[in-house]
This record gives sequence, structure tokens and C-alpha cells, in this order.
Amino acid sequence: MTTPVRVTVWNEYRHERRDPKVAAIYPDGIHTTIAAGLREHGLEARTATLDEPEHGLTDEVLNTTDVLIWWGHSAHGEVADDVVARVQQRVLAGMGLIVLHSGHFSKIFRALMGTSCDLKWREGNDRELLWVVAPGHPIAEGLGELIMLDQEEMYGEHFDIPPPETLVFISWFSGGEVFRSGACYTRGAGRIFYFRPGHETHPTYHHPEVQRVIANAARWAAPGYVATRSYGNRPPHVPGS
Ligand code: ZN
Repeated sequence: MTTPVRVTVWNEYRHERRDPKVAAIYPDGIHTTIAAGLREHGLEARTATLDEPEHGLTDEVLNTTDVLIWWGHSAHGEVADDVVARVQQRVLAGMGLIVLHSGHFSKIFRALMGTSCDLKWREGNDRELLWVVAPGHPIAEGLGELIMLDQEEMYGEHFDIPPPETLVFISWFSGGEVFRSGACYTRGAGRIFYFRPGHETHPTYHHPEVQRVIANAARWAAPGYVATRSYGNRPPHVPGS
């Protein structure tokens, strides 16, 4: 029996505590809903939030996390730089990272991408179709041709990210925009997946196919064998040269 993937779901957990409309959808926070979905898919999940000491992301937590999931929106600036640096080091050493929705503007995602990660947006009631453009990719396992979300916030191109190593989803919105909504990267030994849906005023993380994508992505991003890497000055490898 293989060891379950250990996921930590991080959420800034602010909208749910101040906006009754969001609290009605996620009474215990977005992180709790996502963690429950992961457990249903056989993964091990715990949560961490911004207002905990060290944002809940201590060395001990990160060292026992295979994959970190990140949801943030209104408080990106409150995330301490030393915690961001710690998460970045763990990703480079092999921890997986899944960045959700408005996490596109988080310090950690921008640091790992090296671009502005800016985009177009519109809060409304657009319908979103997420087309699978990498059929057979592990993150799309068990899905049909597309996922349909009846109501979501619109994100539109241009999305200022580096070209994805693999693009798994392209979204179309009823307003006519398109968006690269499922993008895979490698940084160091770590795998990163950006997944677009999940505006806090819509019940997106209760959607079974969205839960499936997040679980698939956690399995995909979990470190398998991490090769030893050595760097720095050294004498010639071949004696006498
Ligand atoms: Zn949003």
C-alpha cells in the first residue's frame, strides 16, 4: 500500500469571516471544503491559515507536506516574506504547489514565475467552460471533454505568466474571453500547477469535478523520487587532468 499524499491547504481565510455571502457558501472556510474533497479522494489533508503563527507554515509543517495548496486574495501583502522564502525553498527542493484562482497575485506564485501574473477580470455571473486541452494528462484523469461552471468570475487573457510546460485547461467565458486556466510548471525539483476557478462568492470548490482536478493535481505534484543534486566548486573528476 502506498503512503497517502500529505496535502496542506492554505487559505488567507478573511472573506469567509467578514462577508455573510461567502460564509453561507463556505461556513468553515474555503480551506475546509477543499481539504474534505481531498480526503474523499484518498489524500491526507490538513489546513493552515494566515492568522496562525507563521501563517501555519512552520518548518515542521512544510517538512511534512508533499503538496501545498494556496488560496489568497485580499491579504497577499500580509504574508511575511520569510514565510514566502521558506515555501519557495521547499518547492525548489521538491514540494508540490497548487495555486488557486486569485492566488495568481500571491507573493509565492509571482516569485516562482518571475512575471507580473496580471490578468483581466470581471466579477459577474459569467458561465465558464474549462476545456481539457491535454487529454490523458494525470490532472485531467476521470474528466470528460470539459467542466462547466454555471457562474464564475471571469479571468481573461492576456495572463502574464511564463509559457506553461503543459497547459491542461483553457477556459471560455460567456462574455467571450478565454484564459489559460490550468498551467503546469517545474521549478527546481518541485512541480507547480495553477488552477483558475474558485471565486469566493461562488460554490466552485463544492463542485465534484473541481474537487477531482485538485485531487488529481495533488497526486501529480507530489514528489516522487527526488534526485540528489550537488553544486559548487570541486577538483577535477578525472585524476591528473
Ligand atoms: Zn476572485
